[in-house]
Amino acid sequence: MLDLQVLDATCQNTSDPEIMENELWRTARDFPAHHGFSTRKGGVSEGPLASLNLGRSVGDAPERVEENLRRACAAARLDVDDLHTVSQVHGAALHEVTARLRGQGRRPPRPEADALHTAEPGAALAVQVADCVPILVADPEGRRVAAVHSGWRGTLAEIAARAVEALAGGGSRPEALRVAIGPSIRVCCYVVGQDLADRFRERFGPEVVVEEDGRPHLDLVRAIRGTLQRAGVPEAAVEVLPDCTSCEPALYYSHRRDGGITGRHLAFVACSFPGEGRGPVS
Ligand SMILES: [Zn+2]
Repeated sequence: MLDLQVLDATCQNTSDPEIMENELWRTARDFPAHHGFSTRKGGVSEGPLASLNLGRSVGDAPERVEENLRRACAAARLDVDDLHTVSQVHGAALHEVTARLRGQGRRPPRPEADALHTAEPGAALAVQVADCVPILVADPEGRRVAAVHSGWRGTLAEIAARAVEALAGGGSRPEALRVAIGPSIRVCCYVVGQDLADRFRERFGPEVVVEEDGRPHLDLVRAIRGTLQRAGVPEAAVEVLPDCTSCEPALYYSHRRDGGITGRHLAFVACSFPGEGRGPVS
């Protein structure tokens, strides 16, 4: 299913950083901070990694990843030094980007964590995914943001709630938060073993597993929505982009579909609220 948010006709001459319409990035329709979910289009990588691979540890040539990152940042109007990432370990730890760390996004070592948060104006936070669920959180009142990588382990550990707690620790009200959930493997394609399905049923309720052809299909997004609601985020504040990464080989990498030989997407959110006070975002 192609979504209308993909505009193949590149339009990068808008002056509003919130309106980002190009084939390299998808955006939520109604999210208050500058953000994006990368597609696999518009890069220079080849073969199974074609073309916009943004992962450094998937066997791609470093110079190709660098060029892809340069293109992706240019298309998103991001300063690559302001783009902060972590070494993702499928845990539930968070990393805070403080004033001291601003502008050092490219300097190793990257801390081991699966979510980042910041209140530093202009700092951008990114997570890497290729089926796992990217979750972006913004507080337009307190001007804080978080980015979360949530695979099945992180979802079971309710890392999305840890991110909400971290923002609340800085003064954010959970009921004022807005969330965008990006393209990820969806219930249509995410077949899991009976043991894992049972663990999810116990934690999140029977509705997060759908049996089809006698095999359990896991609905990670539904589990995450439950976690967010329990953490105090209103249901209506959560926007889910419709795409399944496994269903759309032309647009997305999928670790499952591609047998592990595939690229990585970035999902980013910047602590930048260009749309505040006008339009549908207020
Ligand atoms: Zn699917």
